[in-house]
Amino acid sequence: MIRKLIKRVFGRADNHKMGLQVIPASEHGIRVENLTTCAVKVTRTLQEGGFKAYVVGGAVRDLLLGQRPKDFDVATDATPEEVTRLFRRSRIIGRRFRIVHVMCGAETIEVTTFRANQNVEDEGVDRVTDETGRIVRDNVFGSQEDDASRRDFTVNALYYDPQSGDILDYCNGVRDVQNRTLRMIGDPDTRYREDPVRMLRAVRFAAKLDFHIDPETRAPVAELAGLIENIPSSRLFDEMLKLLLSGHAARSLHQLRAEGLHHGLLPMLDVVLEQPRGEKFVNAALHNTDQRIQQGKPVSPAFLFATLLWHEVLVNWEARKRAGEKPFPALQSAMDEVGDRQETRLAIPKRFSVPMREIWAMQPRFEQRSGGRPYRLVEHPRFRAAYDFLLLRAESGEIDAELADWWTRFPKADETERAAMLLRDQPAAGSKPRRRRRRKPAAASGGQSA
Ligand code: ATP
Ligand code: MG
Repeated sequence: MIRKLIKRVFGRADNHKMGLQVIPASEHGIRVENLTTCAVKVTRTLQEGGFKAYVVGGAVRDLLLGQRPKDFDVATDATPEEVTRLFRRSRIIGRRFRIVHVMCGAETIEVTTFRANQNVEDEGVDRVTDETGRIVRDNVFGSQEDDASRRDFTVNALYYDPQSGDILDYCNGVRDVQNRTLRMIGDPDTRYREDPVRMLRAVRFAAKLDFHIDPETRAPVAELAGLIENIPSSRLFDEMLKLLLSGHAARSLHQLRAEGLHHGLLPMLDVVLEQPRGEKFVNAALHNTDQRIQQGKPVSPAFLFATLLWHEVLVNWEARKRAGEKPFPALQSAMDEVGDRQETRLAIPKRFSVPMREIWAMQPRFEQRSGGRPYRLVEHPRFRAAYDFLLLRAESGEIDAELADWWTRFPKADETERAAMLLRDQPAAGSKPRRRRRRKPAAASGGQSA
């Protein structure tokens, strides 16, 4: 307890020692043309309203690295209410952090008011921590320097003023960008306890930016990884989705493993990554996803989760089949069992889990290549995703490439060719009881028992 207190005081003192550096445009090289008009407009309007306003966070970091920012965040000393008064199309969102979304055109800028990161024990402030030191609500406004010190990493705490062109750097963030170092602001141990999600963020940024994690920033993670369990499932899911959709998912997961961090941090991957067959499949899926994101193509989280959990389902399904269960009901039971287990670790929201199950449930239908079934399958709204999934299974050696190839050709073939492709006298893989129950073929998918 005392050790923690001392650490906290020292951690804070360190930040304050660093002091403010103002870096002009001629030195840092960011040009206002690299910003969106929306970002420029929002900062200008706030400044004309008498407030401070800076582009902050990931956007400044990415611009310094010569990369195109995903989005622009703005930090200001105006309160959320004052911000909404200046922008017609804006609204306050969030409870844990109250922030303002300002819309212009199709773009949304997140505007946050400078926040404090100290005096946690002060009375009457709107900050709540739980018994592990985790901050559960934080709406204490503070100075710009306070705001810098409550951010996670030094490279995420840079403030760029599009009007003057200056970068305000309180924590040597520009130096760390240059050295490609990810360094926690303040005392890492305390900062991870305040918000264990920062451990995931450390790995995500290191992988995405190709930065190395400063040894002091890395050190406490092994011990504290278990704290991730205290994070509300929805937030953990969001952060995990960011990691998987960063365009560097393969590297992120690789790094998690290298740090011994995947246990507890990404619970559902523990099992999968430890089976050689599963690892190959997951890697193929992650590389595929990364490639699509880097090419600006859309990816489906449902598909991605279907791939990440498939080998758990597969092992369970195969065991049931060996025990004499029929393929279709065995798959349903395997999906239920894996779904229930997953639920207790990291709940996947319904909007993803329902299509995920549909993709799985369609897999045995690809085995049925006689009669009218292939015709109905290609008409299924989820055919494309299920087919892509089939390709991955073939690519990883789980199923015969011939099957995937057949399904590549069948949808493109004309009527005569299709008729010639159909297999004769093929045993229907356990689907007969279902057809007798007169289920609609298009609904023979995962959603129904989700
Ligand atoms: P990305 O490019 O992935 O969006 P980002 O740095 O912009 O990266 P965001 O999650 O958008 O990350 O957060 C914006 C900024 O808010 C961060 O740069 C950081 O300064 C601050 N921040 C976000 N999450 C945390 C956190 N858990 N603890 C402390 N500061 C945080
Ligand atoms: Mg961001």
